[in-house]
Amino acid sequence: MDFLTGRNDEAQPQPGPRPRPREEPGRRAVLTRALGLATVGLGAAVTAGATATAAQASARANQADWRFCTKCYGLFFRGYSDDGRCPAGASHDSAGYNFNIPHDIPETPTAQHNWRFCTKCYGMFFWGYSDNGRCPAGAAHAAAGYDFVLPHDIPETAGSQRNWRFCPRCYGLYYYGYLTNGRCPAGNAHGMAGYDFVLPHL
Ligand SMILES: [Zn+2]
Ligand SMILES: [Zn+2]
Ligand SMILES: [Zn+2]
Repeated sequence: MDFLTGRNDEAQPQPGPRPRPREEPGRRAVLTRALGLATVGLGAAVTAGATATAAQASARANQADWRFCTKCYGLFFRGYSDDGRCPAGASHDSAGYNFNIPHDIPETPTAQHNWRFCTKCYGMFFWGYSDNGRCPAGAAHAAAGYDFVLPHDIPETAGSQRNWRFCPRCYGLYYYGYLTNGRCPAGNAHGMAGYDFVLPHL
Protein backbone atom coordinates (compact mmCIF):
# COMPACT_ATOMS: atom_id res chain seq x y z
CA MET A 1 0.00 0.00 0.00
CA ASP A 2 1.01 3.61 -0.34
CA PHE A 3 2.15 4.80 3.08
CA LEU A 4 1.69 8.43 2.19
CA THR A 5 -1.92 8.20 1.12
CA GLY A 6 -2.63 5.70 3.89
CA ARG A 7 -1.84 8.23 6.57
CA ASN A 8 -4.33 10.53 8.17
CA ASP A 9 -2.96 14.03 7.59
CA GLU A 10 -6.00 16.27 7.35
CA ALA A 11 -4.88 18.55 10.20
CA GLN A 12 -1.70 20.38 11.11
CA PRO A 13 0.41 19.38 14.13
CA GLN A 14 -0.89 20.78 17.39
CA PRO A 15 1.22 22.17 20.25
CA GLY A 16 1.22 18.83 22.06
CA PRO A 17 1.30 15.22 21.02
CA ARG A 18 -2.19 14.03 20.19
CA PRO A 19 -3.16 10.62 18.95
CA ARG A 20 -4.81 10.40 15.57
CA PRO A 21 -6.85 7.58 14.16
CA ARG A 22 -4.96 5.48 11.68
CA GLU A 23 -6.13 2.53 9.65
CA GLU A 24 -3.10 0.88 8.14
CA PRO A 25 -3.72 -2.85 7.97
CA GLY A 26 -0.58 -4.73 7.16
CA ARG A 27 1.89 -2.00 7.89
CA ARG A 28 2.65 -2.95 11.45
CA ALA A 29 3.08 -6.63 10.69
CA VAL A 30 5.64 -5.83 8.01
CA LEU A 31 7.56 -3.44 10.23
CA THR A 32 7.57 -5.85 13.16
CA ARG A 33 9.14 -8.49 10.98
CA ALA A 34 11.72 -5.94 9.86
CA LEU A 35 12.81 -5.34 13.46
CA GLY A 36 14.67 -8.58 14.08
CA LEU A 37 15.04 -8.12 17.79
CA ALA A 38 11.27 -8.09 18.35
CA THR A 39 10.75 -11.38 16.55
CA VAL A 40 13.63 -13.10 18.33
CA GLY A 41 12.06 -12.30 21.72
CA LEU A 42 8.65 -13.57 20.69
CA GLY A 43 10.07 -16.76 19.24
CA ALA A 44 11.86 -17.64 22.47
CA ALA A 45 8.67 -17.14 24.46
CA VAL A 46 6.62 -19.30 22.11
CA THR A 47 9.06 -22.23 22.19
CA ALA A 48 9.14 -22.17 26.00
CA GLY A 49 5.80 -24.00 26.03
CA ALA A 50 2.14 -23.25 26.35
CA THR A 51 1.81 -23.38 30.15
CA ALA A 52 3.45 -20.24 31.54
CA THR A 53 1.09 -17.98 29.66
CA ALA A 54 0.86 -15.28 32.32
CA ALA A 55 4.63 -14.85 32.59
CA GLN A 56 4.98 -14.77 28.83
CA ALA A 57 2.25 -12.21 28.45
CA SER A 58 3.99 -10.03 31.02
CA ALA A 59 7.33 -10.37 29.25
CA ARG A 60 5.77 -9.41 25.95
CA ALA A 61 4.07 -6.33 27.37
CA ASN A 62 7.28 -4.38 28.00
CA GLN A 63 10.65 -3.88 26.33
CA ALA A 64 13.72 -3.09 28.46
CA ASP A 65 17.07 -1.55 27.40
CA TRP A 66 15.66 1.92 26.80
CA ARG A 67 18.12 4.43 28.23
CA PHE A 68 18.73 8.12 28.88
CA CYS A 69 21.44 9.72 26.70
CA THR A 70 23.79 12.05 28.62
CA LYS A 71 24.57 14.02 25.46
CA CYS A 72 21.15 14.81 23.94
CA TYR A 73 18.89 13.88 26.94
CA GLY A 74 16.81 11.68 24.63
CA LEU A 75 15.50 8.17 25.29
CA PHE A 76 17.15 5.60 23.01
CA PHE A 77 17.25 1.82 22.62
CA ARG A 78 20.52 0.28 23.74
CA GLY A 79 19.78 -3.30 22.74
CA TYR A 80 21.96 -3.33 19.64
CA SER A 81 25.73 -3.54 19.24
CA ASP A 82 25.91 0.15 18.35
CA ASP A 83 24.06 3.08 19.93
CA GLY A 84 22.50 4.82 16.95
CA ARG A 85 22.99 8.46 16.08
CA CYS A 86 23.05 11.32 18.60
CA PRO A 87 22.20 14.93 17.69
CA ALA A 88 25.20 15.96 19.83
CA GLY A 89 27.52 13.95 17.54
CA ALA A 90 28.52 10.28 17.08
CA SER A 91 26.34 7.76 18.94
CA HIS A 92 24.22 8.08 22.08
CA ASP A 93 25.83 7.58 25.51
CA SER A 94 23.70 5.85 28.14
CA ALA A 95 23.39 6.48 31.88
CA GLY A 96 20.95 5.90 34.70
CA TYR A 97 17.87 3.69 34.77
CA ASN A 98 17.06 0.77 32.51
CA PHE A 99 13.61 1.79 31.31
CA ASN A 100 11.11 -0.98 30.65
CA ILE A 101 8.55 0.45 28.25
CA PRO A 102 5.00 -0.93 27.79
CA HIS A 103 3.89 -1.67 24.23
CA ASP A 104 0.92 -2.95 22.25
CA ILE A 105 -1.61 -2.44 25.03
CA PRO A 106 -4.74 -0.25 24.86
CA GLU A 107 -4.38 3.51 25.14
CA THR A 108 -6.05 5.05 28.23
CA PRO A 109 -6.63 8.60 29.55
CA THR A 110 -3.21 8.28 31.28
CA ALA A 111 -1.28 6.35 28.61
CA GLN A 112 -0.56 7.47 25.04
CA HIS A 113 0.26 5.16 22.15
CA ASN A 114 1.99 5.90 18.83
CA TRP A 115 5.47 6.14 20.32
CA ARG A 116 7.95 4.27 18.13
CA PHE A 117 11.55 3.19 17.74
CA CYS A 118 13.50 5.01 15.00
CA THR A 119 15.65 2.68 12.88
CA LYS A 120 18.00 5.53 11.96
CA CYS A 121 18.86 7.16 15.32
CA TYR A 122 17.52 4.46 17.74
CA GLY A 123 15.54 7.15 19.57
CA MET A 124 11.91 7.03 20.76
CA PHE A 125 9.67 9.43 18.82
CA PHE A 126 5.97 10.25 18.43
CA TRP A 127 4.43 8.79 15.29
CA GLY A 128 1.00 10.39 15.62
CA TYR A 129 1.45 13.27 13.17
CA SER A 130 1.46 13.36 9.39
CA ASP A 131 5.22 13.91 9.36
CA ASN A 132 7.85 12.27 11.57
CA GLY A 133 9.82 15.20 12.95
CA ARG A 134 13.56 15.55 12.60
CA CYS A 135 16.09 12.73 12.91
CA PRO A 136 19.75 13.28 13.87
CA ALA A 137 20.64 10.85 11.06
CA GLY A 138 19.00 13.18 8.53
CA ALA A 139 15.44 13.94 7.32
CA ALA A 140 12.58 12.49 9.40
CA HIS A 141 12.53 9.59 11.87
CA ALA A 142 11.63 6.11 10.54
CA ALA A 143 9.35 3.89 12.65
CA ALA A 144 9.67 0.15 13.20
CA GLY A 145 8.69 -2.48 15.74
CA TYR A 146 6.40 -2.11 18.71
CA ASP A 147 3.71 0.48 19.31
CA PHE A 148 4.86 1.85 22.67
CA VAL A 149 2.23 3.12 25.12
CA LEU A 150 3.67 5.67 27.55
CA PRO A 151 2.06 6.37 30.95
CA HIS A 152 1.62 10.07 31.69
CA ASP A 153 0.40 12.42 34.41
CA ILE A 154 0.35 9.77 37.14
CA PRO A 155 2.35 9.80 40.41
CA GLU A 156 6.03 8.90 40.22
CA THR A 157 6.97 5.77 42.23
CA ALA A 158 10.18 3.95 43.22
CA GLY A 159 9.84 2.05 39.94
CA SER A 160 9.20 4.98 37.61
CA GLN A 161 10.54 8.41 36.63
CA ARG A 162 8.52 11.46 35.57
CA ASN A 163 9.66 14.53 33.61
CA TRP A 164 9.92 12.82 30.23
CA ARG A 165 8.49 15.12 27.56
CA PHE A 166 7.63 15.40 23.89
CA CYS A 167 9.75 17.82 21.81
CA PRO A 168 7.53 19.59 19.25
CA ARG A 169 10.57 20.33 17.07
CA CYS A 170 12.07 16.84 16.57
CA TYR A 171 9.14 14.72 17.92
CA GLY A 172 11.56 12.89 20.21
CA LEU A 173 11.06 11.93 23.86
CA TYR A 174 13.61 13.48 26.22
CA TYR A 175 14.25 14.12 29.91
CA TYR A 176 13.10 17.52 31.10
CA GLY A 177 14.39 17.27 34.67
CA TYR A 178 17.58 19.33 34.24
CA LEU A 179 18.16 23.06 33.93
CA THR A 180 18.99 22.62 30.24
CA ASN A 181 17.13 20.57 27.65
CA GLY A 182 19.89 18.65 25.90
CA ARG A 183 20.46 18.76 22.17
CA CYS A 184 17.73 18.73 19.53
CA PRO A 185 18.30 17.42 16.01
CA ALA A 186 16.36 20.49 14.82
CA GLY A 187 19.04 22.72 16.40
CA ASN A 188 19.87 23.99 19.90
CA ALA A 189 17.94 22.47 22.84
CA HIS A 190 14.70 20.46 22.75
CA GLY A 191 11.38 22.28 23.09
CA MET A 192 8.64 21.06 25.42
CA ALA A 193 4.93 20.36 25.01
CA GLY A 194 2.18 18.03 26.04
CA TYR A 195 2.04 15.35 28.69
CA ASP A 196 4.38 14.67 31.61
CA PHE A 197 5.40 11.09 30.83
CA VAL A 198 6.20 8.75 33.73
CA LEU A 199 8.40 5.90 32.51
CA PRO A 200 8.67 2.56 34.37
CA HIS A 201 12.19 1.24 34.96
CA LEU A 202 13.78 -1.97 36.26
ZN1 LIG B 1 22.01 11.20 22.34
ZN1 LIG C 1 15.50 9.11 14.22
ZN1 LIG D 1 13.97 18.01 19.95
